[in-house]
Amino acid sequence: MIKNAIAVMTSGGDSPGMNAAARAVVRTALSEGVSVYGIYNGYQGMIEDDIQELTSRSVSDLIQRGGTFLGTARSMEFKTPEGRQKGFQNLQKHKIEGLVIIGGDGSLTGGSLLSRETGIPIVGLPGTIDNDVWGTDYTIGCDTAANTIVDAINKLRDTASAHRRIMVVEVMGHHSGWLAITSAIAGGAEYALVPEVKYDIPSICEDIQKSYEKGKRYSLIVVAEGAGSGIEIGKQIEEITQIDTRVSVLGHIQRGGSPTVEDRMKASMLGEKAALALISGATNIVFGFNEGKVVSINLFDAVNNTKTLDPELVRLARVLA
Ligand code: ATP
Repeated sequence: MIKNAIAVMTSGGDSPGMNAAARAVVRTALSEGVSVYGIYNGYQGMIEDDIQELTSRSVSDLIQRGGTFLGTARSMEFKTPEGRQKGFQNLQKHKIEGLVIIGGDGSLTGGSLLSRETGIPIVGLPGTIDNDVWGTDYTIGCDTAANTIVDAINKLRDTASAHRRIMVVEVMGHHSGWLAITSAIAGGAEYALVPEVKYDIPSICEDIQKSYEKGKRYSLIVVAEGAGSGIEIGKQIEEITQIDTRVSVLGHIQRGGSPTVEDRMKASMLGEKAALALISGATNIVFGFNEGKVVSINLFDAVNNTKTLDPELVRLARVLA
């Protein structure tokens, strides 16, 4: 049971909805009579004592903003036991008794080590656009990112159709094809190339050529960055098909933007659960969603298992192509 103070931090890549989650943590804790500190700039900020007490006002005018007001950073020093001890000493200095960490796989791994080595209670929230945290079918920010990609696909479709071009769209996802396959299905793309599933460019080209012969005006191919370089794949396709091919690498616009209603709602629900659980004595858990319901996942299971791409999505993308 926590009586005095908790802290909240964001870590790893930023994602839209992190602000909504942190806001919910802050306001829930305050309504329970527990103080809240913000740790700025991820684990590096913990090591450098970039820690400040937050009020309800600190998190006003934030729910609609992408990014994270707490900042985020990648910290090599936190990967060492000495770095984690330094961070822990700063938490003790502020009498922080528990920590909510909002971040991806790496951030939650860092949190699990900190908890194991120091005993500080940790509750994690999955915050990454990749939707690749084991045990949950949702991560904070994935919906906004997928919507951003679909919006780009809609626009690219107009120009592709006008010129009878093939459009290759490279999206984020080093190890996870969730963003690519979801946006391909929702955007009506013909192909999604993802790191989890083998693909064959010559046979894709054969398919495209046949469909063009039957009068098709354009083809859209979504490529997850972990499945190959969009630029290279575009070159190969143009060489084989001799059809005008253009490549768009969406890059960091996928991370930004005002969070969707879904991301705001889910982040708010998860933030409240995290604060309440931490205050009531829970530790080493991650809150996520499974089939629309909030679930709690063991932190060590979440970081030690790898989420696989839902085969239903792969199947659906094929059927609808
Ligand atoms: P994203 O999925 O958006 O990339 P992430 O949380 O997986 O987010 P990482 O860069 O992997 O992003 O991790 C963020 C930070 O967490 C790292 O900079 C490091 O400080 C800490 N971290 C990651 N892995 C470990 C680890 N194995 N041990 C200790 N700390 C770690």
